[in-house]
Amino acid sequence: AYRHRPTFSKLVLVFAASGGGLVAYADARADTAAESPGVAPKKKVVVLGTGWAGTTFVKNIDSSLYDVQVISPRNYFAFTPLLPSVTCGTVEPRSIVEPIRKIITKKGGEIKFWEAECFKLDPENKKVYCRSNIGTNLEGNGEFLVDYDYLVIAVGARANTFNTPGVVEHCHFLKEVEDAQKIRRSVMDCFERATLPDLDEEERKRTLHFVVVGGGPTGVEFAAELHDFVSEDLAKLYPTIQDLVKITVVEHAEHILTMFDRRISKFAEEKFQRDGIELKTGFKVVKVSDKTITMENALHGESSVPYGMAVWSAGIGTRPVILDFMKQIGQGNRRVLATDEWLRVRECEDVYAIGDCATMSQRKVMEDIMEIFRFADKDNSGTLTVKEIQDVLEDICIRLQKVKNLPATAQVAAQQGNYLARCFNRMKDSAEKPEGPKRITKMGRHHFLPFRYKHLGQFAPLGGEQTAAQLPGDWISIGHSTQWLWYSVYASKQVSWRTRALMKQPLLHVTKEPT
Ligand code: FAD
Repeated sequence: AYRHRPTFSKLVLVFAASGGGLVAYADARADTAAESPGVAPKKKVVVLGTGWAGTTFVKNIDSSLYDVQVISPRNYFAFTPLLPSVTCGTVEPRSIVEPIRKIITKKGGEIKFWEAECFKLDPENKKVYCRSNIGTNLEGNGEFLVDYDYLVIAVGARANTFNTPGVVEHCHFLKEVEDAQKIRRSVMDCFERATLPDLDEEERKRTLHFVVVGGGPTGVEFAAELHDFVSEDLAKLYPTIQDLVKITVVEHAEHILTMFDRRISKFAEEKFQRDGIELKTGFKVVKVSDKTITMENALHGESSVPYGMAVWSAGIGTRPVILDFMKQIGQGNRRVLATDEWLRVRECEDVYAIGDCATMSQRKVMEDIMEIFRFADKDNSGTLTVKEIQDVLEDICIRLQKVKNLPATAQVAAQQGNYLARCFNRMKDSAEKPEGPKRITKMGRHHFLPFRYKHLGQFAPLGGEQTAAQLPGDWISIGHSTQWLWYSVYASKQVSWRTRALMKQPLLHVTKEPT
């Protein structure tokens, strides 16, 4: 049985077969109407997730127009680009998190927040099944049900192990603030263990071998942070073992930072070589045990290396709740949930997906093409003029060019959250003008312009107070001055003045000589 969310007073029990038993749940629509007789209830917008996409949506939606409910197992927003800095203590965790309730309060407090995770979506009945790990209902399982008029899925992604044996059991991930804190403790544990008496040299070396799997921006930044931490701080605290420390980055591709311009990846590889960070490019990790990592290489075959601590940062995958949802709606053959250019999940009504949990699909655009033709044939004559065909083809060409796989970044997630909130804010207006103003799309079929990503540049901090940046127009900047640009941009992107001020403290600290 599911406990209904606490604000609903009247419980309407409905029995439905579920897993061989009967479940009782509340009809939230009936409740809302009963609570405000005579007044049309506001449409319910349920947002899943408090990451970049969800939080940006919540910050920008006009909460006077909708009954907004946010559901997430995390009651705070985390500024993920600074997570690698938390692993080594350059930045404190509290400097990069902002309570979601604070963000909501700033908006007038109309938005509700439930700390719970959604474990099942029911698009047919427009309901989401949630489970709280803190509250418990009468059955003690913390489960409850929330219904929606519009659903915004922004649950992000999970770390992808590619089913490599031993990864979950033995590797650290770097996705959440807790992960960063665990890594920090684990690094210190390795150093303490390596100083214990009665350990032979080989065992000390193994304990101090830090392996980073994945040469993308996160893995590279963590390796660089760790190198700085070891050489600037830990070397002084553990002088007898400092020479035994080794950091290795394993990357399946031929280079690290492949998503950046080759000049940046080359600079990073050379810097890592100078810093003594070993790069194993062209190697794929195939197994991890408690003490060794086994990898494969086309030239050298399989080899195993002993290690003390490993961080797995090799990519992201779809969360189980989304995989289940995809099967339900006929997207079971895909790896990532597909949306159209308006960020709608086309197979069900009033469901949107933004951020890392979804991707805009070219296939969806192709499916849309038939609709475009139908729309162009306004008088149902079955014939189009040359001018009409030209317009349609032009629209298709532009759209296919623009819908390419977007990177899974905070930048994309935040822009999508912002775009969708603006669409919601204008939805009522456009419903009153069903044809939509012509200016909005060339074909006039949609009320809103499709989502278009604007790339504002990308940073790769490389340690030693050096950062590489690839800015729009393929403008490359590398070095100490770019580090200041990186700090300035990230400070400006902070969600509150509190985190902005806290972030500046370590900034001033790290640019001084280490103490
Ligand atoms: P997330 O930010 O991951 O948020 C997902 C939210 O959904 C969370 O609140 C989570 O608790 C919640 N959730 C999960 N499951 C459920 C559920 N079942 N029900 C309800 N809620 C759920 N990007 C950049 O652009 N620049 C960078 O420098 C950068 N650095 C990064 C460094 C690190 C270490 C990491 C991990 C990522 C970095 N990224 C960076 C990528 C960026 O963080 C992600 O692309 C971004 O967080 C995606 O936003 P999102 O809202 O889709 O997902």
